Amino acid sequence: MADCPNLEKCPFFKNIKLAPTAEMLKTTYCRSDFESCKRKQLKDKGEPVPENLWPNGKMV
Ligand code: SF4
Repeated sequence: MADCPNLEKCPFFKNIKLAPTAEMLKTTYCRSDFESCKRKQLKDKGEPVPENLWPNGKMV
């Protein structure tokens, strides 16, 4: 499967401090099941995407 079209510029990863966590999320969402990403779902609907919204829908 292709990568998420937002991957290179996704602001979420600017705020993540733990590289292993970021890589895990990229593997799970951005490079495979990106249609399940809550951030992408909001962006695709034209809705604002909170900075602290995780791909799994958690707000941290
Ligand atoms: S976090 Fe979501 S929107 Fe951002 S690149 Fe990954 S799959 Fe795409």
